[in-house]
Amino acid sequence: MIEFRNVSKTFSLGKREVHAVKAVTLSVQEGEIFGIIGFSGAGKSTLLRIVNMLERPTSGKVLIHGVNVGELSPKELRTRRQNIGMIFQNFNLFNSRTVSGNIAYPLRLAGTPNKEIEERVKELLQFVGLTEKANDYPNQLSGGQKQRVGIARALATSPDILICDEATSALDPETTAEILKLLKKVNKELGITILLITHEMHVIQSICSKVAIMEEGKVIETGEVFEIFTNPKHSTTQRFIRSVQ
Ligand code: ATP
Ligand code: MG
Repeated sequence: MIEFRNVSKTFSLGKREVHAVKAVTLSVQEGEIFGIIGFSGAGKSTLLRIVNMLERPTSGKVLIHGVNVGELSPKELRTRRQNIGMIFQNFNLFNSRTVSGNIAYPLRLAGTPNKEIEERVKELLQFVGLTEKANDYPNQLSGGQKQRVGIARALATSPDILICDEATSALDPETTAEILKLLKKVNKELGITILLITHEMHVIQSICSKVAIMEEGKVIETGEVFEIFTNPKHSTTQRFIRSVQ
């Protein structure tokens, strides 16, 4: 359902060029939790930003449900983006808005009627287990609670895809486990396809069915997580696996 076909992205910095993503071809199936792992600078975030055209590829294309995202009109792209939720390492919450206000934000942008917003926010608060915190501000929350708000906000417009950029990297191991459990629930109960990037192999091991390993902009190995663990071919993959053994 998400297909990267020969996707490359080069940034030009004056005379210097950075080849952030190099000829990536990958297929993510509907309902999967697909992990992308790589060291810092490997091109993971750039690749994910290309999915909703926050970054335009220099060459190649991305198809979602067979539709080339790069060819959508501005209006169609807005709709597509509403159907892709994103969560981040630093949560990116609005500190001047309450928990409810943060979750309601994308619905207000979409012009949803107030009554509907109210009901949807209530439902989402319940789903992520934050009903008690509805009127608190982000600075009154723990990291794990902030990420729950991030997840609820990402789910507000009922996306079919959730993109997680190092969503647990700022959290301690116990809180990480709780957030990964919530992501599993998002995938299972809501049928949302999850595309997740991380530099931690234990995150891949605990929730992903498939994984791609990126290095210097390229996908150097990809497959089912258990197969990659059983028979890693590339030395970088072996390094990641050793880190969890
Ligand atoms: P990290 O794990 O540190 O988040 P990453 O795998 O997400 O790393 P990217 O952020 O995709 O890596 O960056 C890949 C390369 O592209 C890096 O060399 C980075 O400096 C460069 N890059 C990313 N965005 C830009 C930009 N807007 N302008 C110029 N160079 C960029
Ligand atoms: Mg990144």
